[in-house]
Amino acid sequence: MPAPIIFSGIQPTGRKHLGNYIGAIRQYVEGQERGEPAIFCIVDLHAISVAYDPAELRERLYDTAAILLAAGLDPARCIFFRQSDVREHTELTWLLSAVTAHGDLNRMHQFKDKSARQRELVSAALFFYPVLMAADVLAYRATEVPVGDDQRQHVELMREIARRFNERFGAALVVPDFKIPAVGARIMDLQEPERKMSTTGGTDAGTVLVLDEPAAIRKKFGSAVTDSGREVRRGEDKPGIANLIDILAVARGISQDEVEREFEGAGYGDFKGAVAESVVELLAPVRERYAELRPDEGALDAILAAGAEKAREIAAVTLADVRERMGYQPK
Ligand code: ATP
Ligand code: MG
Repeated sequence: MPAPIIFSGIQPTGRKHLGNYIGAIRQYVEGQERGEPAIFCIVDLHAISVAYDPAELRERLYDTAAILLAAGLDPARCIFFRQSDVREHTELTWLLSAVTAHGDLNRMHQFKDKSARQRELVSAALFFYPVLMAADVLAYRATEVPVGDDQRQHVELMREIARRFNERFGAALVVPDFKIPAVGARIMDLQEPERKMSTTGGTDAGTVLVLDEPAAIRKKFGSAVTDSGREVRRGEDKPGIANLIDILAVARGISQDEVEREFEGAGYGDFKGAVAESVVELLAPVRERYAELRPDEGALDAILAAGAEKAREIAAVTLADVRERMGYQPK
């Protein structure tokens, strides 16, 4: 088996949460060991698909970059860059739109959810976002896309776009596979365990941020919604407890069954306390390292600029091929 080409993107919302950490960031760090190359991108062009403030965007971009580096991304072992620095992404988006079915975009759950939440403008960008996401990945001919469960539909769509392009214009693009973790692919909001923990949609009290202080983490787990039962086990009727079991399993690196065995007969209070401590331990080193990295925006810019240069080299080759096949000058 040849080494995978890994690509994934993350939004510069700054308020990255435990769901992002467990579902995505943790996989990125591991992917650095296998990817040749492993490419990670802060998708700042995606960020404008909902209401935003330009000055704030710049700040959150640095926050997100520092969180990822603090979590273990290493620019010596991966390509780490800012989407807006590599213009091939936007050009490829337009070219791919020619082989994207409008009806497919219409079926995207994320558009339905997020458009319903917009108070002023439902932008065309929000509708078109999955095509930009397809371009992000396909520009690098990535074979593996580590994401959380909520991105399954978008990855299916980019696979369809790649297939349709290849059928129509010849095999220039690679159909990527997604990589969704077996446990922790969908961390739920602690207050509303029927919905995913989210930067933009969830409750404040139910969203554990990567940068939360230990006291805040303990408080959020302490008030996590459970159920009227008393057993620490997974079950359809126990979304709150099942979510806490997943979190503890990942934080400690053990199986869900082991968690259930360890807490047989224990009360919910003790169980929640144990989950809180494991998460405090998991996130403390990231928070501490973040505090060291975040102030030096010059250093962050330098890392992102060097990454963009490497990314552009790869994306430019794909673009030349795609342009030529579609009837344009390659450059
Ligand atoms: P938004 O709600 O604005 O889309 P988000 O919380 O989904 O924000 P993103 O930056 O869009 O954050 O997602 C980055 C990565 O984190 C994606 O791979 C996504 O699948 C993953 N992810 C997001 N939320 C969760 C979650 N609750 N559990 C596991 N993985 C998640
Ligand atoms: Mg998202």
